[in-house]
Amino acid sequence: MLRLVFTALLTLALPLTAAAETYDLLYRAAIDPDTGKARVEIRLEGDTLPSELDLNLSSGRYTQLESEQPLELDGDRAIWQPSAPSASLSYLFEIDEQKGSGSYDSRITDDWAILRSDKLIPPISVTAERGLRSEAELHLELPEGWSSALPYAELGQDHHYRLKDPGRRFVRPKGWMIVGRIGSRQDFIADVDAKIAAPLGEDIHRQDTLAFLGWNLPELKKVFPDFPDQLLVVSAGDPMWRGGLSGTRSLFMHADRPLISGNRTSSMIHELVHVATGIHGDDESDWIVEGIAEFYSLETLRRSGGISQRRYDQAMDELAEWGREAPNLFERRSSGPITARAVGIMRQVDEEIRDASGGKANIDNVARGLAEDRGEVTLAKFRRLAEQAAGGPVKALDRDNLGDEPG
Ligand SMILES: [Zn+2]
Repeated sequence: MLRLVFTALLTLALPLTAAAETYDLLYRAAIDPDTGKARVEIRLEGDTLPSELDLNLSSGRYTQLESEQPLELDGDRAIWQPSAPSASLSYLFEIDEQKGSGSYDSRITDDWAILRSDKLIPPISVTAERGLRSEAELHLELPEGWSSALPYAELGQDHHYRLKDPGRRFVRPKGWMIVGRIGSRQDFIADVDAKIAAPLGEDIHRQDTLAFLGWNLPELKKVFPDFPDQLLVVSAGDPMWRGGLSGTRSLFMHADRPLISGNRTSSMIHELVHVATGIHGDDESDWIVEGIAEFYSLETLRRSGGISQRRYDQAMDELAEWGREAPNLFERRSSGPITARAVGIMRQVDEEIRDASGGKANIDNVARGLAEDRGEVTLAKFRRLAEQAAGGPVKALDRDNLGDEPG
């Protein structure tokens, strides 16, 4: 009897022990349009804290690191040794960043800032006891009258967000964010909390974009049932990057980009597919990542009734023609003709799987498999998923079909 009681106590104690293995991780970012910088603080609180944080400062955007705990700067690295029960590290983060073309993918003006919250915090490798996990929140300090939009649940009204990143022990903010004098429109679409946000005063079609998502997101969700439950679309005009850039549960889209282009593909759906799959290629497989995104930009429009079968076929033929300019798919970066040719490969893969499975499977099974695993995709992995769906070899994915002899 005694022993039974003892066992029961032990069992009860286990969840408590597990719960004690967390610490609070608070990111504070004070955004200052006068200096163009954010003063960022990483604060850790708990009985047990990670023993070491190794920060990678190689982007050159992090300066003036300070802490009362041991902090060692070593070239592009900073090694910080926090100690319980409370430790804090702060630094300045340069918000503006121009890409090679001169346009910005991160920018602050007197009235707003658009950036990836990922970049607020440098890459960090964390040394901690096994099982020790963070409970992370992000608090923004903004100029008077500024609002904020991030793809996270807001706690209260003062720009305080609870961060989540399942599977990560050291949780960090991710995805696009916009702060400032902004306007936003929100709706629930296929159970996705979707928001379009952009600086006030710019010519942004928030409602049209939301309606476009209303037609197309439900189709995407059928292919990708694990599509994030929160989606933030950030938009702005020049001098921001003149295209689309996906992020975690979010994307940026330049205000001038049409929802559907002249060739009937859609940059918006293309980026949504990147959000859905979360994949990147190894050094020869970017065509798979871009081909899937571009294929579904057309396929989703066809399924949602955005374009007819006839126009879809025509668009596919035009892409195939353009794809002839790409002698080889195995480039580090897939663009223009390579992606166009990759779309044709996706169509072949789809047809082969449909034929081989008697219509029971199609390329959706492959895309879903990629999205479930996320991370890096290789030709071998893509082929394995396609062959599983087809129940046999898929000829479209023979290396011969992807190399020097465009089909
Ligand atoms: Zn892309």
